[in-house]
Amino acid sequence: MASAPPKAIGVLTSGGDAPGMNAALRAVVRTALSHRVAVYAIYEGYQGMVDGGERLRCMTWNDVSGIMQCGGTVIGTARCAAFRTREGRLQAAKNLLERGIDRLVVIGGDGSLTGAHLFRQEWPDLLAELVAQGAISQETTAQHAHLAIVGLVGSIDNDFYGTDMTIGADTALQRITTALDQISSTAASHQRSFVVEVMGRNCGYLALIGAISGGADWVLIPESPPETDDWEAKMCEVLAAGRAAGRRDSIVVVAEGARDRNGNPISSEQVRKVLEERLGEDVRVTILGHIQRGGAPSAFDRWMGTLIGHAAVEELLAATPESEPQVIGMRYNRVTRLPLVECVRQTRAVAEAIAARDYDRAMELRGGSFKEAFRTLRTLGRALPHAPQPGQRRLQLAVLTAGAPAPGMNTAVRAAIRLGIDRGHRVLAVRNGFEGLIRGQIEELGWMSVSGWAAMGGSRLGTSRKVPGDPDLYAIARTIETHGIEGLLVIGGWAAYEAAYKLYSARGTFPAFNVPIICLPASIDNNLPGSELSIGAGTALNSIVEVVDKIKQSAGADRRCFVVEVMGNYCGYLALMSGLASGAERVYLHEEGVTLHDLQADLTNMIHDFQQGKRLTLMIRNEHANPLYTTSFMCALFEQEGQNLFEVRPAILGHLQQGGDPSPFDRIQATRLAARCVEFLIEEAEKSSSGGAFIGMQGGHIEILSLEDMPRLADTAYLRPKEQWWLDLRPIVRLMSQPGMEQIQSTPFGDL
Ligand code: ATP
Ligand code: MG
Repeated sequence: MASAPPKAIGVLTSGGDAPGMNAALRAVVRTALSHRVAVYAIYEGYQGMVDGGERLRCMTWNDVSGIMQCGGTVIGTARCAAFRTREGRLQAAKNLLERGIDRLVVIGGDGSLTGAHLFRQEWPDLLAELVAQGAISQETTAQHAHLAIVGLVGSIDNDFYGTDMTIGADTALQRITTALDQISSTAASHQRSFVVEVMGRNCGYLALIGAISGGADWVLIPESPPETDDWEAKMCEVLAAGRAAGRRDSIVVVAEGARDRNGNPISSEQVRKVLEERLGEDVRVTILGHIQRGGAPSAFDRWMGTLIGHAAVEELLAATPESEPQVIGMRYNRVTRLPLVECVRQTRAVAEAIAARDYDRAMELRGGSFKEAFRTLRTLGRALPHAPQPGQRRLQLAVLTAGAPAPGMNTAVRAAIRLGIDRGHRVLAVRNGFEGLIRGQIEELGWMSVSGWAAMGGSRLGTSRKVPGDPDLYAIARTIETHGIEGLLVIGGWAAYEAAYKLYSARGTFPAFNVPIICLPASIDNNLPGSELSIGAGTALNSIVEVVDKIKQSAGADRRCFVVEVMGNYCGYLALMSGLASGAERVYLHEEGVTLHDLQADLTNMIHDFQQGKRLTLMIRNEHANPLYTTSFMCALFEQEGQNLFEVRPAILGHLQQGGDPSPFDRIQATRLAARCVEFLIEEAEKSSSGGAFIGMQGGHIEILSLEDMPRLADTAYLRPKEQWWLDLRPIVRLMSQPGMEQIQSTPFGDL
């Protein structure tokens, strides 16, 4: 009797395509192969599963090479009517069993995951029917009695309950933000108004977050329709006030599923008419459409796709017939598993609440940060601030940027200035960091003076790395006194934190320093204590990944090894994450060190791979990975040892990493953190207390720590936090690039 095929995993993409699906696919395939489990790609979604034949292809390690930078899904996706019928699912089960597949990774939206769940429940019945038909043997049934499934959510809408981000949402948000930046500049030139329609049938995520990061003035989303019936009047009133205050552009973002209180759809065309008729404006409509969906995935979608694809296979291999099917998602920057059925149910509940016009419930289901974002947009987008309360104590707060420039610094400054003024206080801007504080380079900035800053890279206030020496402290104390500064917001990197700590520690000698001080982490290096992510690091990662894509394309007919050097000071965050997101064979970190033995092993692997026919190897190296084994040393070593087999090229990325317009994520975080910092300064100053603090994101929450804790958390020798969460991801980089894995093709697969 012929033995049944060994157990295997199937993976498919289904429903709407989303950038980042390929990263997930690649991770699924490679993780399965590293466990010596066969893995089939099912082309064209459920349609391929029903069709069988060539649509199910056994994948090798190299079949998923070079796909991470591609948009969409390389194995195709489809909507499949046949799979909605029992007949279709019966055929699909037969096709899977012929290949021994009884474990599925489904990458899709709520519909696709519902289909998978149904299929799993029906599986035993389908098998019984196939046996009765004589299509499969009892033995096959016994071997594959259960179907295990795991879901990954691919959807640009970010409309899935339980995960902070779905695959593709970050990329779509970048497209929208870039479009809004571009539209703003042309709108401002002609003093035009624009209505921009973005995707999102039941989910206002893209519209709302896009509007905040793109600095739009009004937003219409499905979950929270305008509160009044005559919403047109309210919108026009706010936009007219903006014009009167000197705003040159007016932008309204409309989600495609936007509606009014009564459930009637609000179209972008309708909004255009209203603006034209009531305001007499020259209004243009831009419907972003499929541009939002297409193109190369962002760094985040690549590394997140990789992590959750990897976790999906681990979950599947550990599943027992009794285990509940899970969705793998991201929560608070970590991979998380969630019960699939419950999440699909909650996801649908939002759509149902909207359909039932229960908007409070819809907003409730979306969660706290969604509501917070909605409120922030309303304040920041105001034409003019609220007037100070009569008799209110008006504080003088100051803000500065220090350390190396980081994308998002201007966004934070803008938010701090506007939110401070809106609370009735004065906000002073210090030029050129602590240098400016020493020299008294200070001016008051008004509401409109920061308009457009949210989108600008670099630092408009100017920044310097100057950490004040002892003789400078006297000058700083004088500046604080002469300008009557009652609270100081320090936005920046390591040098900024060090300087703030210095002032804080010198309070005994200089009474002027007894004002509240708070530091906001802004550094592409992501090396600051108290925060898992600092502002600017996400943008830098995108810049690196984009450049690495180009470097890879530049490899021609020769076999080539690229050694790419990235920034980070002594912190390996950029090196590791860009390695994950660009599929590097190896990353070199200072945290791990580099030994000659490592280099020798890497060389041996590389030679082996090139001999097997590989054409390109990518090594990413932190700038200070090792003081002696420098980038040029490593290149020379590889070049010499590679002889005629391959060539080596260095690429030192340099300052392009510090530049660029901030990513939507950096803009949102900068805004959130700055809002919280301003609140802190006001609270402290109002109770005449003078806390020194630093703020950060930890486990998804904003946390404020005392400057007293700095020495405990910071590794002052290497200018980085003592604990770094992302170091745990190192094994995945290795696994995804394990050299010599091609051999797996010729080894028989073991049973599960
Ligand atoms: P998105 O909405 O993000 O585009 P989705 O996965 O929700 O993605 P759908 O069109 O709802 O997209 O579903 C994709 C495919 O999944 C359907 O064409 C169908 O083949 C299958 N499917 C969806 N719902 C079911 C169901 N209830 N039973 C069986 N199959 C289903
Ligand atoms: Mg759907």
